[in-house]
Amino acid sequence: MALQGVMDTLKNANLEEIGVSFSLADLLRDLRIDGNNVYIKLFSPSEKYHDYLKEKAEKVLKSIGAEQVEVEFTSEPPKQQQPPPQPPPQQNPFENRRRIPGVKKVIAVASGKGGVGKSTVAVNLAAALKKMGYEVGYLDADMYGPSGPTMLGAKDKQVTATPDNKLIPPEAHGIKMMSIGLLLPSEDTPVIWRGPVLFKALSQFLFDINWGEGLDFLIIDLPPGTGDVQITLGQTAEIDGAVIVTTPQDVALIDVKKGIQMFNEVQIPVLGIVENMSYFVCPDNGKAYEIFGKSKTEEIAKQYNTELLGKIPIEPKVAEFADLGIPIVLAKEDSNSAKAFMEIAQNVIRKLSE
Ligand code: ADP
Repeated sequence: MALQGVMDTLKNANLEEIGVSFSLADLLRDLRIDGNNVYIKLFSPSEKYHDYLKEKAEKVLKSIGAEQVEVEFTSEPPKQQQPPPQPPPQQNPFENRRRIPGVKKVIAVASGKGGVGKSTVAVNLAAALKKMGYEVGYLDADMYGPSGPTMLGAKDKQVTATPDNKLIPPEAHGIKMMSIGLLLPSEDTPVIWRGPVLFKALSQFLFDINWGEGLDFLIIDLPPGTGDVQITLGQTAEIDGAVIVTTPQDVALIDVKKGIQMFNEVQIPVLGIVENMSYFVCPDNGKAYEIFGKSKTEEIAKQYNTELLGKIPIEPKVAEFADLGIPIVLAKEDSNSAKAFMEIAQNVIRKLSE
C-alpha cells in the first residue's frame, strides 16, 4: 500500500459523527505500512471514542485495500513542535560604541600610508585648536611609530595615574597629551603588537585616560593604513569625524580612497582631506611650485562626497620645529604652513557643526 494513499484516506476520514471538525489524520501519531497491513497510533485522551475511531480507521483503510489494520491509542499530548531555529539576531558591530569620557568632540587623523605628514597634521591641528582657545587633548595611537611626544616636545614627560588607575596625561604647550611612546621603557623599544594585545592596548588607551572634564576636542593620531586599529577604534569609541591626510601623488590618493571607504564602513563621518606637501614656495622668487605635479585631491574629495580641508606647503621649518618639539602653528604663526593649519582647524570646526 502506498503511503500517500493511506495519508489521503486518513485525511478524508472526517469525524463529524462525533461532533468534531478534524479527521483521523489530525490524530495520527505513528504510521507503519507493511505490505497491505497498516499500523496506526492515534491520539485520543478519552477512551470513550476508541471503539468508534478504531472502527472508522479499519473501515476507511480496508476500503482502499488494507488487509490487517492495527490501531493503538495514546493519550500523550502532541509533542510541541520545535520552532525552526532562528538565525542569531544580527549584532550591530557599532552598538557597543562608547563616548570617551570628558571629551566633547573626538577627531581621528588618518592616512593611507606612512610619511605623508599625518602626525604633523594631528599635532598642528591640536595646537591650532588650542590657539583658538579650546581645551584640547592629543592621543597618539600610532603604536608602530609614536612620534607625538617628539613633535610636542614631551618625550621626557612623566605619565602618572589616578588612584583608580586612570592615566593622567601630561601637558605640552597646554595640550593634554598621551602616547604609547610615553609608556615604553625607551624610544628604541619596538612596538609590534598584533590582534588581541593591540586591541586591549587601544581600548585601554581610549578609555583609561583621565582627560578631566572639559576637553573640547580630542585629536587621535591613528597609525597609517586601514587595518585593525582603525576598525577597532570604529567599533569601540564614538568618533565624531575623521580627517584624512595625503600628499598629492597619485599613489597616495589611491590610499585616500581606501581610507574613505573604510571610514564609511565603520560609520565614522569623513570631515575631509588635508593635502600635505602640496607645493613649495621658492624663497628666492616667492613662486609656488607644485613639485609633485598637479593635484587631483580636490577631484577625489568631490567624487567621494567630501571636501578638501586645506593644502599645506612643504616648508623645511615644519620639520625643523617638529624635531624641536614645537608645532609650526605655535613656532612660526606667520608661515604659510601655520596659516594653512589655522584654516584647516576652522574648516574642521565648521564641518563638525554641520
Ligand atoms: P606620518 O605621521 O604620516 O608618518 P610625519 O608627520 O611624521 O608623517 O611626517 C614625516 C616627516 O615629514 C617628518 O619629519 C615631518 O616633520 C616632515 N613633514 C611633514 N609635513 C611637512 C611639511 N609640510 N613640510 C616639511 N616637512 C614636513
